[in-house]
Amino acid sequence: MEIKANFKCPKCGYEYGYMCGADKTMNLYARIVRDMREGKYGEGIKKVFAAEPLAAVDVSRHLWICPECGKWKNRRDLSVYFPNDDKKEKIAEAREATMMLAVDDYEPQVYDEELRRDYHLVVPSVVRCECGAEMVKNDSPETLKCPKCGEDNPPDAREQKRTATDSTIQLDW
Ligand SMILES: [Zn+2]
Ligand SMILES: [Zn+2]
Repeated sequence: MEIKANFKCPKCGYEYGYMCGADKTMNLYARIVRDMREGKYGEGIKKVFAAEPLAAVDVSRHLWICPECGKWKNRRDLSVYFPNDDKKEKIAEAREATMMLAVDDYEPQVYDEELRRDYHLVVPSVVRCECGAEMVKNDSPETLKCPKCGEDNPPDAREQKRTATDSTIQLDW
């Protein structure tokens, strides 16, 4: 599911927003996994991938908010998952079949629903705020601080209205 929100700060006029969810990003997924295998995300992650060649990454976007100072980041999760033991064989077979047809450097993307169903979390993503606190994932907060002046604003009313109209149209069909 995709979540999108836009804000217009009534205090300073700055416009900001965020987007959460999974996008189909084959090349990006392959690049992230390759970088993790090669150690670009640290030696720890490299060892994790060496221990389990079927390891997968959650590349979906989320909103992280600092519980201490209220600053936020909209970034990819990047938690690492291992396949469940009873699913390994099936996953390995499917992967091999896909790889046979693939060009160099291909890496079959594992999506949210597969991660939840067939995998378990091994390295949870920890997102730190510049103030040092650990940020908390929250994809639909009631308010979000303006990055420019710090005012805590609800999502843009115009945006909400447009979304409401869109869903009414969908219901009519
Ligand atoms: Zn903070
Ligand atoms: Zn502002």
